[in-house]
Amino acid sequence: MSSPLLTLDNLTVTYDRHPAVHHVCGQFARGSLTAIAGPNGGGKSTLIKSIMGELRPADGRVAHQLKRSDIGYLPQAAEINRRFPISVIDTVLLGSWKTTGAFGRIGRKHRQEAADALAAVGLSGFEARPIGSLSAGQFQRVLFARLLVQDARVILLDEPFTAIDARTTEDLIGVIGQWHGEGRTVIAVLHDLDQVRRYFPQTLLIARELIGWGPTGTVLTDTNLSKARMLSESWDEDAAICEPAA
Ligand code: ADP
Ligand code: MG
Repeated sequence: MSSPLLTLDNLTVTYDRHPAVHHVCGQFARGSLTAIAGPNGGGKSTLIKSIMGELRPADGRVAHQLKRSDIGYLPQAAEINRRFPISVIDTVLLGSWKTTGAFGRIGRKHRQEAADALAAVGLSGFEARPIGSLSAGQFQRVLFARLLVQDARVILLDEPFTAIDARTTEDLIGVIGQWHGEGRTVIAVLHDLDQVRRYFPQTLLIARELIGWGPTGTVLTDTNLSKARMLSESWDEDAAICEPAA
C-alpha cells in the first residue's frame, strides 16, 4: 500500500453526546478505492461528513493535508433539494468553483468541460433541462458530471446507487473505475454487498464501532457481517454516552 492520504485517529463523532462513530482508527491509502458498509444507522454518513469536515469530532481526529477543494462530496439523495430551479448545465458548472473562484467568470473553457462531463455520463443534449424534470437516475448522472468537472483528488459518495436504476448504476460504476484509474482516492457508502465485492478492493465495515477495514474479502466475512447485525440490533438511543478524555 502507498502512503496514507487520510488517517482516522481514534475518531469519535457524537450527536448530543451519543456516539454515532466510536473510536475509529485506520488509514485510507492514496489512490485507494474503498466501500463503507454497515447497517442502517451504523454511522456511515456521519463518518463521511466528518472526513469532509462538515461534522467536528467529539474526540480524536481526521488527519490529512488536503484543502477543502481537494475533496468532492456527493451527499445521500435525501439531503439534496431538487426543487431548486436550475438547469442541468448550471448544476454541472457549480463544480467549477475551484477554478473560477466564488465570483469568477464562467468562460468558454468551463462550458466545454461541463459539456464534456455531461457527454461522459451519457447526458449530451440535456444542458437546458431543469433538474426537477429529470429521473432519479438522470439526476445522479448530473451530480457525477459535476464531480467530474470539480476534478477533486478525493471523492466521497454517500449511497450513490440507492434507488438508482441498474443501467445508470453500471455506467456510474464505470466513472468510479475511471477515477480510480486516474489515481484519485474514492470512498463510497454502499448497500449492495455484491457490488462491493465486485468493484471495491477495500472495505470499511462499521456499526458505530469499526468492525473491519482492509481488503474486501477479509472484511466481508460471515462473522463480521453477523457482528455488524448484532451491534445494530443491540442499539439503544438512550445508552452509551461517550465522555471524551479530557
Ligand atoms: P448511516 O448513514 O449508517 O445510516 P448515520 O451516520 O446517518 O447512519 O446515523 C448514525 C446514527 O446517528 C443514527 O442512530 C442516527 O439516528 C443518528 N443521527 C444521524 N444524524 C443525526 C442528527 N443530525 N442528530 C441526531 N442524531 C443523528
Ligand atoms: Mg447514511
